[in-house]
Parts: sequence; C-alpha cells; structure tokens
Amino acid sequence: MAQQWIYLNGDFVSKEDAKISVYDHGFLYGDGIFEGIRIYGGNIFKCKEHLDRLYDSAKSIMLDMPLSHGEMQDALVETIRRNGMRDGYIRLVVSRGPGNLGLDPKRCPSAWVIIIVEQLAIYPEEAYKNGLVSVSVSQRRNIPDALNPKIKSLNYLNNILVKIQANLAGVGEAIMLNSQGYVAEGSSDNIFIIKNGVVYTPPCYVGALEGITRAAIIDLCAKHGYKLKEEPFTLHDVYVADEVFFTGTAAEVIAVREVDGRTIGSGKAGPITTNLLQEFRKIVTVDGVKAFE
Ligand code: PMP
Repeated sequence: MAQQWIYLNGDFVSKEDAKISVYDHGFLYGDGIFEGIRIYGGNIFKCKEHLDRLYDSAKSIMLDMPLSHGEMQDALVETIRRNGMRDGYIRLVVSRGPGNLGLDPKRCPSAWVIIIVEQLAIYPEEAYKNGLVSVSVSQRRNIPDALNPKIKSLNYLNNILVKIQANLAGVGEAIMLNSQGYVAEGSSDNIFIIKNGVVYTPPCYVGALEGITRAAIIDLCAKHGYKLKEEPFTLHDVYVADEVFFTGTAAEVIAVREVDGRTIGSGKAGPITTNLLQEFRKIVTVDGVKAFE
C-alpha cells in the first residue's frame, strides 16, 4: 500500500502522524469501544450490523458518540476510498478521549474516533481445509455481570491472557470457558460444534460476543436447512463433536481438527463446515455497503 491515511477525529493523517494523547482514557484505562470490519471487493461486509453493535456498546458504557450512525458510515467509506482499499480490514476505535489521570469519564469532554484500514494477514487457505489445532485454556471468560462480553470494549486483557496461553501451547486460537465451565468462545472468535447433523453454538449469555460472523452463520444454517441450537455445552461435547469451527471477521469460518489432543471427526474440515464456509464466501461481497460507486 502506498500512503496509508488514518482517520483521526475528522482529519486524514499519515500513519506516522496518527498520534493520540497519553491522557486518552482508551489508553489509560481501556475505556472505549471498537469494531473490526472486513471489506471484500469494495463491499463493507455487514456494515450496518457492525455499526449497530458499536452504538450498542457505546450506549451500554454511556459513551457519547461524536458522530451519528450515518456520519460514521460516511467516515468509514471515505477512509476506505482515500486508501483505495478494496479488500482489507477496518479497525474502528472510539475512545472516551483525553481526560486527566483520574478514571472519572466526566473529565473526558469528547470521544475520539480513529479509523485504520489495512491489509489483512489471514490463515493460509490450507488451514481452512485441514483445520486448526486448538486447546482449552485455564483463563475464564469475564463474567457478564462484571464486564459483559457483549460489549466490544477496548478492555481486551481477558482475551489477551487467553492469547498468551494459546501462544504458550503453540496454537493460533484457544477455547475459553466461562466461570461455570461451559464453553464460551475463543480469544477473538466465536465457536460452533456439530453433532449428528445439528449445529450448536453457545448462547451469548454464557459469555460471548454477539459475533457478526456468528450471526451470519446462524442465518446461513436457517437458509440451507441445517438445524441450529443455541445452547450451553461443555468441553466434553467439543471433544466428541463431528465438526468444530471458529467464526470471526478475520478468521471467517475456520475448522478445528484437534482440541486438547482429541482428533475432531475425520481430523480435517468436515462437510458442513466446508459448505458453510463456501456459502459464507458467497455473501461477503454482496451483503453490506459498497464503498466505491
Ligand atoms: N469474540 C470476540 C471476543 C471477538 O473479539 C471477536 C472478533 N470481533 C469475535 C468473537 C467474532 O466476532 P465477529 O464475527 O463480529 O468478528
């Protein structure tokens, strides 16, 4: 990519000049929210759904958004155009903004909006056929009545601790349980299992983000006649599943071939996972908002 332009509070600045205050409460306290969005062939996939989730997160943490929904979409489109980015990843960050060293958000008069578009390093195509190796980790998901995982906040330490455990185990994505021992999600992906033709995913109250890819897969299951149940399940159910896959904006729909040393199904991407990935890839260039005329 030639010159990379970053949206910073209404201005476009170069990557080198895109700086934030050390008093920014997103930086000091993780006080803010964000979205990760994909652009496929100039289409901002599920743009409305991402913005809806962003504004829901803002409402939940009482963060006054400096832009309307429509203005935010315009800012996204403009940033993509400026960067000539037809296929890539958008990081949209809204921080509480600069305040003082105290944690009181009343001291932060205006939120900051940052939009970064970049090329995306994703799993090699081989991983989608052969599946990932994964492990469960001891780090538990934040409990919803302390910090609800439905809020896509800048406070990702819970997820980072999972990622560290994944790194120690030498795997790309790990499985996190909630405090009752039910499977919640990955460090940055939702999880699905398939048993006897039925697709299962944990309900979000178990402790999972309401993933946009997750919702797209739930829709595709309905459209293509796969029975889907949102119900809590345990690691045992994962071990004995016929198929397991993760979903996420970056990962898309990626099969898991092994969990905690147990081979899942045939030890490669199963037929339903493969079919759902194919169907998913058909909608990514059409379902959303076009960034270019
Ligand atoms: N869970 C967590 C914790 C995540 O960070 C993500 C990535 N946004 C997901 C699940 C997947 O959500 P989505 O499909 O909206 O990317």
